[in-house]
Amino acid sequence: MASEMLPWVLAGVLATLLCFMYYSNQKNYISTSIRAEPRAAFRTTRLTQSTFLLSEYNDVYDEQPQIFVKIVPAANAILIIDTGCGGATVNPDIEITSLRRYIEDVKLECNDGKPLNEGGRMEYVVVATHCHYDHILGIEQFAADSLILASSHSPSFLSRANLPTNSLCASMGLKTPVYTPILVPHRYAVLGVSVLHTPGHTPDEVALYDAAEKMLYVGDSVYETATIIFPKEGSIVAWMASMQYLIDLVQAENDGDDEFRGGGGEVLINCGHETVSRPALAVLKGAIGFMEDVIGGREPVRECLCVRGEANVRYVQEGGQFALRCPERLVLQARGIREV
Ligand SMILES: [Zn+2]
Repeated sequence: MASEMLPWVLAGVLATLLCFMYYSNQKNYISTSIRAEPRAAFRTTRLTQSTFLLSEYNDVYDEQPQIFVKIVPAANAILIIDTGCGGATVNPDIEITSLRRYIEDVKLECNDGKPLNEGGRMEYVVVATHCHYDHILGIEQFAADSLILASSHSPSFLSRANLPTNSLCASMGLKTPVYTPILVPHRYAVLGVSVLHTPGHTPDEVALYDAAEKMLYVGDSVYETATIIFPKEGSIVAWMASMQYLIDLVQAENDGDDEFRGGGGEVLINCGHETVSRPALAVLKGAIGFMEDVIGGREPVRECLCVRGEANVRYVQEGGQFALRCPERLVLQARGIREV
């Protein structure tokens, strides 16, 4: 009798063991799912009621891009200004490198414990302040289903044939992202924000102005502390005109009727690297004054170097608020126009 029961006893023991293993795994799964949020290549700071700064820290290119996100619930949409370096990080233990996954999945303390766009329920509108690699390497994540906007100032600059060179992807040995932006005119309005053509750093550079929140986003046109860089495709002459345009805009907005806007104070500037929520007028006037000194020969050249086969010069303002690196040709061109 005992030997007849043995297979049944063994089967019972095996079934109990399998159940134990199954529930142990379930328990492990549950404990994994409720542990601390995954480590991501981005960190978020809330800037206003609707706007967040996503800092891509420790990227392998040492660009430290600043990505700005504005949530517009009334339009069920989320505006993304630039997409950073694609999450390539020097930290080996980073679990989330996708900007889109970060925005849709990662719960943020500064957003009441919720992801910025939980489950991707809101539609995206992505604006590239310009096409340099450190602003577009994350853009393919949105290319299939989202609106991507860029400047119409110089369509050939953004053509598929020229993008590898002009994005600097070719010189960096990077695959150029594939995306088809809609090229928008100067002062194009989207989600309550105005897209402004501000050529200079590159021909396709844009700034964005959010009048309701008095926030100005200028990409790589200017920043404090970090060196303002012009590639060979840039123009100091065009930059001066663009910065003067922004100064006039900010001056008018600062002088505007605050009561009508419900208060609000002065316009703040946010840049593609380093500078965040600083007084726009002071930063812009300071930068243009520094450039006037460079063109006027009042700033000494601190360094000469070769970039992409061309002689470049570097200037650093006393005190270090502003610094500039650009092809020497661009300074000479601006100086020549002054002297005519
Ligand atoms: Zn740039």
